[in-house]
Amino acid sequence: MTVFKLPTWVVKAIDKLRRNFLWGRSTGTGTGIPLLAWDRVCLPKQLGGMGVLNLKLLNTSLLLKWLWRLFDQPNSQWAILTKSLFTSRTNVSPLSWTARGSFFWRDLMTFRHLFSISTTFNLGDGKDALFWFSDWGSGYLRFFDSKPPPYKSNLTVFQVLQQLPSSLQAPWNVDVHNAILYLSTRTASNTWDICSWKWNSSGCFTVKSAYNTLVSTGKTKFLGTSIWKVKIPPSIQIFTFLVFHNRLLTQDALVKRNIFVQPGCSLCSSTSLETANHIFCSCPYTLDLWSRVHSLYPSILYQNHTDCKQLITEALHNVNINKKDPKAVLTITVLWALWLERNNRIFRGAARNTVALLHWVNSQQEMFLKHC
Ligand SMILES: [Zn+2]
Repeated sequence: MTVFKLPTWVVKAIDKLRRNFLWGRSTGTGTGIPLLAWDRVCLPKQLGGMGVLNLKLLNTSLLLKWLWRLFDQPNSQWAILTKSLFTSRTNVSPLSWTARGSFFWRDLMTFRHLFSISTTFNLGDGKDALFWFSDWGSGYLRFFDSKPPPYKSNLTVFQVLQQLPSSLQAPWNVDVHNAILYLSTRTASNTWDICSWKWNSSGCFTVKSAYNTLVSTGKTKFLGTSIWKVKIPPSIQIFTFLVFHNRLLTQDALVKRNIFVQPGCSLCSSTSLETANHIFCSCPYTLDLWSRVHSLYPSILYQNHTDCKQLITEALHNVNINKKDPKAVLTITVLWALWLERNNRIFRGAARNTVALLHWVNSQQEMFLKHC
């Protein structure tokens, strides 16, 4: 994985194993029904995912490291050998792709544009930076959109300047002409180009910075990140995350999956189709439990809530995670208790009243605050 680009079918096969394990299909511990799209599962927790690694992007990040080494350690034996093997002429940047080379090199070259938009070159002799694709900064952006003639797309800055004045006579637009004139005053023949990694404040490549950039591009921050920081067991964190996204297998969710159910709430014996909002917010049994919780902890008042997401957001608002905030822990423990009570009634025929359930919630909360 650190050397070869994983074929798509391999990534799919491994993801299938991971997906089956996560949803209990392979172990027989769960329903086997995926509760969240796999793409979403593989997002970082702060972006609304479950923090499972995206194999394809991790593979890409690990391979980018080799391209970085060509520029960061140009005098290493590996860099010298690689350049001599795969670049046939002198003054050719490692990013100037040629069709020759091993599978390893060809795989690396599929990432050269990604590498180009992730790096900046501080120009020296211009022999590493590509004229069209590298970001050599200083007011002139890369010419990705200028659609260069294919036969000239691999030219380094050095090669373009070497061809002056014929470069200026090529049928390129005015901006490109100006850029060439600019470069002729900025390059220095006695120093190397210095490559900087854009996605890290130090300017140095790390696999972590590459992965985080790739996985977060175009995504918005998840408001419920605190779920993963509340001092409760990981299994209950996942449960809360699923409640927040309305992904539990309640009756309405089963109906959406074309699974037949007999409508009805096991907590209050209502004959309406069961929903998460009903179980955790508006069910009479739940309202009675919230009322008892409120009498013990006046700061917890959820009797008027009709939406789980809003309820969890409020519980996590201004939570001091480091001090094991009892409000957040207690609220989530109540949600967890309601779900277990609902399942016990449906699958085991066992029922507790709200007094007994509150007693159980209190003991669980104390244990979480003490041990988590
Ligand atoms: Zn009910």
